Amino acid sequence: MIDERIKNATPHWALLAADKEGQENALNDLKECSLSSDEVTRLSEGLRKIWSKYPTAIVQSDKGQTLTFASPQEGVLTDEENALLTQADEILAKYLNEKIGGGNTILWSGNPCHQDIIEISCLKWGVSSTYATYAHNAADAPDSWPMIWPPTGYEWLNNFIQQVCHSYDHYYNPELGTGLAPAQCANYANSAKSYYDQSSMYNAYTYMGYSSHFLTDVGNPLHTGMEIEQALNRWVHDDYENYVGTNWEAGSGQGYNFKSVIDNNWYYYAMSDPATSTRSLAGYAKNYDDTLFYLVYNHRYTFRTDPSVRSITMSSLLDTAKHLLGLVKYVRD
Ligand SMILES: [Zn+2]
Repeated sequence: MIDERIKNATPHWALLAADKEGQENALNDLKECSLSSDEVTRLSEGLRKIWSKYPTAIVQSDKGQTLTFASPQEGVLTDEENALLTQADEILAKYLNEKIGGGNTILWSGNPCHQDIIEISCLKWGVSSTYATYAHNAADAPDSWPMIWPPTGYEWLNNFIQQVCHSYDHYYNPELGTGLAPAQCANYANSAKSYYDQSSMYNAYTYMGYSSHFLTDVGNPLHTGMEIEQALNRWVHDDYENYVGTNWEAGSGQGYNFKSVIDNNWYYYAMSDPATSTRSLAGYAKNYDDTLFYLVYNHRYTFRTDPSVRSITMSSLLDTAKHLLGLVKYVRD
């Protein structure tokens, strides 16, 4: 967890509170940005001063580890410090979005996760493989549907939605109540249920697949918050989803076989209202959004082998699996 004092200090808190590895990455990457050597020196010196003025510490409690400021009076940056952090983070983001994010956000499409999760969940309830395949084939479709913008008054989310989450309904922040994933999950789950009652099985499982997409999306902590942070450093989202996708099956990536978390789960959460279940899964995933952002951001060249990133991913997927089993049962009951 990250102390609220750190997150409230600046939207660039991940750079402000960078650990040794994050500091080294920032200083090395700054040298790779197209800047004059005077600029590199000015920004590097500025960052070093900020880091030594606001040291952080990790505090252990019964809730786990929390990253906090080392002394209680820290956390109020001067305007000058704020300006320097903003500048450094923006310059780094521009460089990293190009270098790691590839300049766009298509890396994760073709990611097998959504399709596998609903298919496995169907098969666990004894659904025929034909019907499970209908759900599988529909599960990625919402990513190609027209984008929904945030409502009036939430324009500050525009960049995040357009460039990171793709659409306002593929996201839900349980603290702010922003995002339409719960409504969309419910909308398609209830259509699926009425098709099921009419024995219209192709439609029932296709709509179940659509519904599952919105539920599965918010099982990813990065679909539940860190909006401003991700809008700037878009590569964090892309690279994390790429990591999950490339470690999905045995023998790929580092071989974490994240799919096995879904395969091995036999628990389900009873679903009585799909919107409530979506909010509940998002609430669980939200426990990790700050830590996950911090780790990918600061450990950008090593997070793929970081045990904390791996365990956050497995915990989130396990909770997702339990909710998805609940969804299949809900449609068929
Ligand atoms: Zn999505």
